[in-house]
Amino acid sequence: MERKDMNINSKPEDVVFHPAKRISSIGVSEILKIGAKAQALKREGRPVIILGAGEPDFDTPDHIKEAAWKAMQAGQTKYTALDGTPELKAAIRDKFSRENGVDYALDEITVATGAKQILFNAMMATLDPGDEVIIPTPYWTSYSDIVQIAEATPVLIACNAEAGFRLQAAQLEAAIAPKTRWVILNSPSNPSGAGYRAEDYRPLLDVLMKHPHVWLLVDDMYEHIVYDGFEFVTPAALEPRLKNRILTVNGVSKAYAMTGWRIGYAGGPRELIKAMAVVQSQATSCPSSISQAASVAALNGPQDFLVERKASFQRRRDLVVAGLNAIEGLDCRVPEGAFYTFSGCAGVLGKSTPSGKRLETDTDFCAYLLEDANVAVVPGSAFGLSPFFRISYASAESELKEALTRIADACAKLV
Ligand code: PMP
Repeated sequence: MERKDMNINSKPEDVVFHPAKRISSIGVSEILKIGAKAQALKREGRPVIILGAGEPDFDTPDHIKEAAWKAMQAGQTKYTALDGTPELKAAIRDKFSRENGVDYALDEITVATGAKQILFNAMMATLDPGDEVIIPTPYWTSYSDIVQIAEATPVLIACNAEAGFRLQAAQLEAAIAPKTRWVILNSPSNPSGAGYRAEDYRPLLDVLMKHPHVWLLVDDMYEHIVYDGFEFVTPAALEPRLKNRILTVNGVSKAYAMTGWRIGYAGGPRELIKAMAVVQSQATSCPSSISQAASVAALNGPQDFLVERKASFQRRRDLVVAGLNAIEGLDCRVPEGAFYTFSGCAGVLGKSTPSGKRLETDTDFCAYLLEDANVAVVPGSAFGLSPFFRISYASAESELKEALTRIADACAKLV
């Protein structure tokens, strides 16, 4: 069949855009869509409270900004080594050893433009069509989308609230197939806030020990945001025998309030790290020189402010969890970390709004909250598990209180 856009006589209006198959099944993220709608309503003058964003509301600490300024003044404004400056790799090596008890050599460390690019590099460097990646749900939406861009197949496994939103060993065992290349685990989790303790990881690592063709990607992004004395652990430290097929992913975005600086990093087996650098070399050449200098200061500098920030997040977590659980029809598990609640909303489904619309799904419920209560939250469907909704509580306490009042009022109006 002749393609219209190949006809040399075609007029501009005849041109048809053909997206590549590898992106055709991927929509614009639900989170971004809700955010855009909420922003549009705000511009119209509606008093919308947006609890959708996945970033800390703190500013980057001054000593980190100063390091960036000094780097610019010293002329560090050129391309750097492909997958990280020696200074930053050394700071990451020291961080892994000091905080996680895992020793990585410098050539087992890679730096990219955000942890998102680390994931992208890893998947593009290892997956072929037909390969499978096991992803427990609820999951951070990028995992499955990146796997699909790499033309492989996400295998989603539902982890319900009763299991603490954690993958169970029997589920993992049942999901592993000859084509499985990776399992992706994220603790504490976006969106559920669930954390894996050593005893939660142990049975999963035992399963992986039996399947040498399966690699483990752990996303430790929220490592520093944990509550109630939760003891963060990372699998490469727990099971050194698996270290040669674990990619330990982390970044400065959440811990140091540096989302806009775009620096993520990982430690892993040398061959994998090398293959990831091949992908990066044709994507970005290197991460930002200035952001890398700032990240050295973040990792090597004072860490005491993390305790204060964690305490502030914990106060807000307690406020939101208590507020949600006081509302009939909602059911919120207490998260171990991150800055999200993932609350069940089964109890409000089947009810009708004052305008007569029956709420069938969590997406309907979130649309109702935005329309009626002017509160923007994200439905569980966006994270692969329903019926739930995610609140990001990285907002001012006064705003959270107001949002909870509005959600309570909106739920009370359902019949
Ligand atoms: N992992 C998780 C679980 C996240 O929530 C995020 C950010 N939303 C990232 C990785 C990516 O972070 P960044 O690209 O900013 O380093």
